[in-house]
Amino acid sequence: MRSPALARIDLDAISHNVSLLRERAGGTEVMAMVKAEAYGHGLVPAARAAIAGGATWLGVAKLAEAVELRRAGVVGVPLLVCVSVPGEPYDQAVTLGIDLTAGTPRMVEEIAAAAERAGRPARLHLKADTGMSRGGAAPDEWQPLVDAARKAETAGHLNVVGLYSHFACADEPGHPSIAGQLSAFNDFVALAEGAGVRPEVRHLSNSAAILTLPEARFDLVRPGIAMYGLTPMPQLGTFGLRPAMTLTADAAMVKRVPAGSGVSYGHTYVTERETTLALVPAGYGDGVPRHGSNLLEVLAGGRRRRIAGRVCMDQFVIDLGDDSLSEGDEIVLFGPGDRGEPTAQEWADALGTISYEIVTRIGSRVPRMYAGGPS
Ligand SMILES: *Cc1c(COP(=O)(O)O)cnc(C)c1O
Repeated sequence: MRSPALARIDLDAISHNVSLLRERAGGTEVMAMVKAEAYGHGLVPAARAAIAGGATWLGVAKLAEAVELRRAGVVGVPLLVCVSVPGEPYDQAVTLGIDLTAGTPRMVEEIAAAAERAGRPARLHLKADTGMSRGGAAPDEWQPLVDAARKAETAGHLNVVGLYSHFACADEPGHPSIAGQLSAFNDFVALAEGAGVRPEVRHLSNSAAILTLPEARFDLVRPGIAMYGLTPMPQLGTFGLRPAMTLTADAAMVKRVPAGSGVSYGHTYVTERETTLALVPAGYGDGVPRHGSNLLEVLAGGRRRRIAGRVCMDQFVIDLGDDSLSEGDEIVLFGPGDRGEPTAQEWADALGTISYEIVTRIGSRVPRMYAGGPS
C-alpha cells in the first residue's frame, strides 16, 4: 500500500506483548485496554490481536467504543466501559452485553433503570477512588455506592461483577501513594464483600503496576501502553516489549536549494549552504507534533535527519545536505528502533511528553496497514 503517510501496525507484536504481560502477571487474566483506537493502533484489529495473545477481557473508556467493538463482531469476551457519563444509552449497552462502571449511587440507579428497560440485568463494576482523585467513589461514598448496588442487585436489575480502582503513580516505583492505594483498595473490597457483593473480578493494575507490583494483581490486570510495546517506565528498560507501530511517509519531493534559503513558515530554519531538501508528507494534521519543529529526528536514506523548520499541517521538510534521496523513498518517522529510526519514546523525551501521547495522537487521516495477527 502506498500512502503519503502510513502507520504500520505489527499485530503479532501486540499478541506477543499481551502474552508476555500475562506471564509477567503470573497468569492472571488480562483485560486489554483498547480505548482511544487502541492508543492509535486501531480498535478492532488491536482487540483481536490482544485476544489472540491471551487477553480474556477488553476495556475501553467510552460507551461508543464498546458499541463499535460489539458491532464489529467482537463478542464472547467481556468488555468494560470505564468512564460513565449520565444520559448515555445504557439500555443499548446492556442489550449488547457491555459491562458498565458506576462510581456514584446515581449512576447505579441510572444503569439499573436502563437494565429494567432492556429486560435483563446489567453487568456492573463498582469503581473506588483510592487516592487518584479522578473517577470512582471517594472513601466516604463507598458505603452509599455499595448499598445502592446491593439494592439494585436484590431487585434483579444488575449483577456486580467487578470491583476496581486505578493507580496514580505506579510508574514511579516506591512512590508513597502506591502502598496507600493498595491498602485502600483492600479496604474497599472488604467493605463491599462485607455487604454481600460477590464480584467475579477485583482489578487494580495498569501496565506499570503489572511490571513492578505483583501484590496488586488481584483477579485481573489492565495493561494499556505495554500491550503496544511501549513502557510506562522508560528508565527501567523495555521489559522485552515490542513496539507495534511504525510511522512512515514517502518523500513527496526532493530539491536543491541555494545557501540562505528560509525553510517553511516563519523561516525558522535557513540553509547554511547549497543543499538538498526533501518534503515529507506528514504534518500536525496527521499527528506529528508541531512542537517537534527543528527538534525531532526521522530516518531518511539510512541516516537520521532533524525536521528543518516548522511542522506544517500536512508536511514538513528535512535537510539532506549533499546526500540524495529519490522521490517516493520511504522515510521512517518512528518505529521499534531496530533500523536506527527514532522510537516513540525518543520523540516523547524530546518533546517533554509520554509515549502514550505520541502514538495516540496519530490521526484518522493516516491509514493503518496491518501485518501479522490472528487469521
Ligand atoms: C487506560 C487505563 C489503563 C491502562 O493504563 P496504562 O498505563 O496504559 O497501562 C488501565 N486502567 C484504566 C481504568 C485505564 O483507563
